Amino acid sequence: MPFLEDQLGVSAPESLRLSWLRPQDQPLADFAESSGLTVGRHGWSGSPLSIHELTHLVTGGMPVRFFTEGAAVAMEVLGDGRGPRYFSEEAFAYGSVDPRSTMTAIRSQEVQFATAAVFVTYLLVQHGPERFGEFYRRLGGPATMSWIAAQFRDAYGLELEEEIETFLQGVPECGDDSFPLLVAECTGPTIPWQSEGFWRFEGSMDCEDPEVVGGIEPGYAWPSSRAVTVEVPEGGTYFLYINETSDAWLRVGPCFGCPWEDEGIFLDDEVHGKAVQLAAGKHYVRIGSHSDLSPDVTVRLEKW
Ligand SMILES: [Zn+2]
Repeated sequence: MPFLEDQLGVSAPESLRLSWLRPQDQPLADFAESSGLTVGRHGWSGSPLSIHELTHLVTGGMPVRFFTEGAAVAMEVLGDGRGPRYFSEEAFAYGSVDPRSTMTAIRSQEVQFATAAVFVTYLLVQHGPERFGEFYRRLGGPATMSWIAAQFRDAYGLELEEEIETFLQGVPECGDDSFPLLVAECTGPTIPWQSEGFWRFEGSMDCEDPEVVGGIEPGYAWPSSRAVTVEVPEGGTYFLYINETSDAWLRVGPCFGCPWEDEGIFLDDEVHGKAVQLAAGKHYVRIGSHSDLSPDVTVRLEKW
């Protein structure tokens, strides 16, 4: 929760409730379509962990749904694996990524989620979370372009139309003052190095372990995950290794720098070790498995 507040420049209400419900237990018709819904301070999710609904609880929902959904999708970037944080050059060429096309939607279902997420990410990286939070708080008025543009001008001191035109020119370079929008995995505990040039993490993927997020329901086991972090002391080549179990996989990425340059480093069933280039600084290590399995996992990082 504090992580999401920091990323988005908002303060969460004191008391929130998030329920994991099976589809047949869902209370509202809208829920089935989206597998999640947040109304006021109560969120429902069809999966054991929903960063998306958690983000809705932290930010509160606004009548301008574009920014409510954009913030939620921007925060769940690792949720389904390898989603982009910016559109490809091809997507821009096809011209289907103009935020204005659904910015005034008053129903979430009408919002282009991917466009909203990339535009919110763009605003956060370019101008930081405080201004976004300032802007977001003002979105309680009518979902019209003139209202939204006026709030944007007040919060950012910029013209929304001009900012959208800049956004549409394609992936910008990060500057020194760009905000390094992080993934939630960066909040994982930092595991110290065992000795110079040798780092190791051993842990269980048992769903009973308090660090493991996942869940089992009748007939289905959800993917589970846990995350730790490592401070890489100096940039260079490292050998990344996961023990030979086919029941776990790995993603590693930086907790700093330019968010749209992080493509992640993956180890999965076929590849248990490989040489990787890492820059100095904190990295997340996200270990995935299935919730009905409980392999013991060893991850190693060795200076090449
Ligand atoms: Zn949503």
